[in-house]
Amino acid sequence: MVMGSLLEKFRRKKIMSCQKCGKRFRFPIRPGKLLNITCPHCKSVYQISFINPLKGLITGQLRWSNLSRYDQIMLIGLGIVIALLIGTAISRLVTIDSSTNTPAIPYVI
Ligand SMILES: [Zn+2]
Repeated sequence: MVMGSLLEKFRRKKIMSCQKCGKRFRFPIRPGKLLNITCPHCKSVYQISFINPLKGLITGQLRWSNLSRYDQIMLIGLGIVIALLIGTAISRLVTIDSSTNTPAIPYVI
């Protein structure tokens, strides 16, 4: 029994407040899984995703409409950052190209 409670202590848990009854309850974290959590007080069910939204979208475990608004905003933000990074990378490549406009020395065999 002591070992069990010790294990329970080490197991990662998350606290969430129920949107219906406002009471807080704990639920286990299961990385990479989609869990149905039932509020122990009012029995309302929540679907909690521990799947990385980006990975989930790529692997088809998640759909865009399944993502929370927070994840959608995060992914849009990430997309903008990536687009900016690619944009700067391309513009740098272009400037490098134009600066190395020195004529190539012909190599005679
Ligand atoms: Zn509840």
